[in-house]
Amino acid sequence: MHNFPFHSLTKQIFVMNTRRQFLQKITGSAVACTLLTKTSNLTEVAPVPYDGPLLRVAIMGLGSYGTRVADAIKDCKKAKLVGVISGTPAKISEWQKKYNIDPKNCYNYENYSEIKSNPDIDAVYVITPNGLHKQHVIGVAAAGKHAICEKPMAISVKECNEMIDACNKANVKLLIGYRMHFEPKTVAVINMRKNNEFGKILFFQGLTGFKIGDPAQWRLNKELAGGGAMMDIGIYSVNGARYMTGEDPVWVTAQEIKTDQVKFKAGVDETIQFQFGFPSGAGASCLSTYTMNNLDRFFLNGDKGFVEMQPSTGYGPIAGKTHLGPLTQPHTTHQTIQMDEMAQIILQNKTPVVPVDGIEGRRDMEIIAAIYKAVKSGKKVNIKYA
Ligand code: NAD
Repeated sequence: MHNFPFHSLTKQIFVMNTRRQFLQKITGSAVACTLLTKTSNLTEVAPVPYDGPLLRVAIMGLGSYGTRVADAIKDCKKAKLVGVISGTPAKISEWQKKYNIDPKNCYNYENYSEIKSNPDIDAVYVITPNGLHKQHVIGVAAAGKHAICEKPMAISVKECNEMIDACNKANVKLLIGYRMHFEPKTVAVINMRKNNEFGKILFFQGLTGFKIGDPAQWRLNKELAGGGAMMDIGIYSVNGARYMTGEDPVWVTAQEIKTDQVKFKAGVDETIQFQFGFPSGAGASCLSTYTMNNLDRFFLNGDKGFVEMQPSTGYGPIAGKTHLGPLTQPHTTHQTIQMDEMAQIILQNKTPVVPVDGIEGRRDMEIIAAIYKAVKSGKKVNIKYA
């Protein structure tokens, strides 16, 4: 549905934009290498194989999102799926065949500390339920490998601190799977905001949710999920409020609506509305829910212009328009661009437009903790960051 690999985009753009003979080959750089040759009327493009550093990744947790990431990595230039960690032997053999994984790079949850002595794996991408992220990331750090961890980073600020400390101590990097931080339309909007195209930012609205099915799934289990919709999908409005405005909120108010006490047990939120105040005086109003479909919308208003995006955080294509017209940046599979960029962050210390490190993950958790506190107390809660 949204497979449009970066190299074919690059190819298209170059075909459209140049008729000159052109050679671009920068070894070990972030730039896509493309060779152009000119014939009488036609410019042909032949991709040059990437020969820079490659991030060799093992995925831990071969579930639905793990599979999506594995499929997307096939189109990466700078990252490669080389290993798996799973508690289900049948899944391991399926993945070995499907993704051509060497049996020596396959582990289970009991023996994955042995990755320490495997020189063919650089990083482990933790894609297990939220409540297991802490123990898994700490395990990866102890094995001396870089950790990429899905959102939410963990289920409490304390857990985030332990993960950051473990990775610092082991001298490995810790990145959080914030795929929107690399999505082309989102990055274009962030750059417009940085260039003052919208003027002084006044207001953000983030609506994120979907109708959740099976009541027995881990997403509705407090221990494994850490909460409810807020941890899973509301976090997109929390994180989006930050990258869209360019500020971190200093206070929050929040209200919970629960229509089904059986499906959404104590500590598992169904719907929460929340409001932020930012240091500049800007405000935000957001909704996180597990009971409504088609809820994926961002709106940002400044004194010079606006942007609205819908869908704004789904797998895409993302769509939107500003006061200047539609957003036209091409769609790329989010996880492909994310993994190519993360390879450069890990191997070449590249700085992303918006951070994806443990501090960034912890900030969202600090805000979510304040939202839950505001729901409980019914009062405005000031947010403190470490
Ligand atoms: P899933 O249930 O499809 O997969 C979870 C995997 O973890 C399964 O393979 C399961 O076997 C394994 N697992 C290991 N120990 C487990 C245990 N004790 N209980 C249950 N499962 C266990 O879930 P998912 O949708 O792949 O989500 C996994 C993580 O990815 C979550 O943190 C989620 O928030 C995140 N996620 C991120 C995105 C995104 O767009 N960034 C999208 C979906 C999910």
